Amino acid sequence: MIPAVPATLKSEMTATVPPSTDTSRRKLAIIGSGPAGLTAAIYAARANLEPLVIAGNVPMGQLMITSDVENYPGFPEGIQGPELMQKFREQAERFGSTILERDATRVDLSQRPFGIWVGQDEYRADSVIIATGASAIWLGLPSEEEFRGRGVSACATCDGFFFRGREVAVVGGGDTALEEATFLTRFAEKVTMLVRRDEFRGSKIMQERALGHPKIEVLWNKEVAEVKGEMTVSSLTLRDTATGETSDLPVQGLFIAIGYKPNTELFSGQLQIGEGGYLDVIGETGSGIDGVFIAGDVHDHHYRQAVTAAGDGCKAAIDAERWLASVGETETATATNW
Ligand code: NDP
Repeated sequence: MIPAVPATLKSEMTATVPPSTDTSRRKLAIIGSGPAGLTAAIYAARANLEPLVIAGNVPMGQLMITSDVENYPGFPEGIQGPELMQKFREQAERFGSTILERDATRVDLSQRPFGIWVGQDEYRADSVIIATGASAIWLGLPSEEEFRGRGVSACATCDGFFFRGREVAVVGGGDTALEEATFLTRFAEKVTMLVRRDEFRGSKIMQERALGHPKIEVLWNKEVAEVKGEMTVSSLTLRDTATGETSDLPVQGLFIAIGYKPNTELFSGQLQIGEGGYLDVIGETGSGIDGVFIAGDVHDHHYRQAVTAAGDGCKAAIDAERWLASVGETETATATNW
């Protein structure tokens, strides 16, 4: 439970946030500022760890490019993605987190205190939470970018609901695309899968499920050349990858499902990176290095939800605080009122 803070005290607490250029040794640094990183910051700040959040040049994660979020608990009317993340941020700052809106450019996890560099600036921390997330891979078309959040999405779980009774297309032939297409049949009138080769890459069982579904049609050898519409998407120009011929497909939604790229380059050679480039987690939040914890989509290729990432951030902060107490860097954790 968060105790009520009087309004006067609130502004004082915000004012005590140290400047972002303070490179003194920290008890905890958090790399990443999506739901996992900022939830970790809220918990850690309330445990007086005064975390430094290295938030990235484009902070606050994938929800910043999402419009309506209707599945995050606590917002019965829904909330815009950027507004939700701003609330996460304010809550983290309220208790004394420092947010640095720059990319970490190098880390050294080989010795404690761990080193994190932001350009020339070196930060040292006794513990680190890695919450760098994953990014959806996009097609890279200017028109795709223009309609993002206005009919173009990379998350059926997040946005499928808005396409009730509509016709949508899904790009991709892997398990993500097959899963998204099958999920979208709950809402959409028709789902057209656009596969750039003449076969799927995904598993047999998921192929069968999609191919056998009366609402799903598969168009082989097709790629998207352009997304068209006025305020929102109304059609796609498709290009046949075998003949080069173009055609028009009227749809109101386009789901890009060509894979995710976990943001793990920074840790290459220092942490174990598993299948698909995701970080391997040991136990709940462990990395294999004492004092380094992992949270959110950078390791989770299964759920990929804001609420699961937030839960992970909470766990990582509790684990970090207990670990710091166990090595004598903080007072024992048992008194912490999470
Ligand atoms: P994959 O890399 O397996 O598949 C990507 C798909 O997108 C391929 O069909 C690929 O085509 C296509 N593609 C890539 N780039 C483009 C492009 N520019 N234009 C059009 N199509 C493109 O990624 P997934 O995210 O599907 O899966 C990643 C991993 O996660 C896999 O191991 C998968 O099994 C797993 N997974 C498992 C799930 C489950 O078990 N429930 C659910 C989701 C994922 P091409 O084949 O021609 O390269």
